[in-house]
Amino acid sequence: MPIDATLPYDDQNIFARILRGEIPAKRVYEDDFAIAFHDINPQAPTHLLVIPRGRYVSWDDFSARASDAEIAGFVRAVGAVARAAGLVVPGYRLLANTGPDSHQEVPHLHVHLFAGRKLGPMLAGRDG
Ligand code: 5GP
Repeated sequence: MPIDATLPYDDQNIFARILRGEIPAKRVYEDDFAIAFHDINPQAPTHLLVIPRGRYVSWDDFSARASDAEIAGFVRAVGAVARAAGLVVPGYRLLANTGPDSHQEVPHLHVHLFAGRKLGPMLAGRDG
């Protein structure tokens, strides 16, 4: 179910539980600001999720409330994940769903990182 990105942070959301180590995930990266792991239902040969360690529901929440250090740390982490995976030369796509029209399902900010094939048009369809 798409979520309302204006709701308060829910400490029981699935990514909060992954951050706390309560649920397993195939982690590929971690630093003081972010962790990255494989999406459980990959939509491309490489489909990673990068999430901040802080309690932020969405891109909207993060961009409004996070400190400059958290924002810089998170953005640098996304770049580092892609670089470490060797994706800079072939290329990759970033996506951050925010709120119901985007179909955001998990209420903890996450940036999808897709790569490994020609990714096609930017959006699947007008009604998707
Ligand atoms: P959203 O639609 O919120 O932008 O994307 C949520 C993503 O989280 C989906 O691509 C979904 O496959 C992924 N996901 C949901 N639950 C889990 C989980 O328990 N573990 C992992 N690794 N990914 C998950």
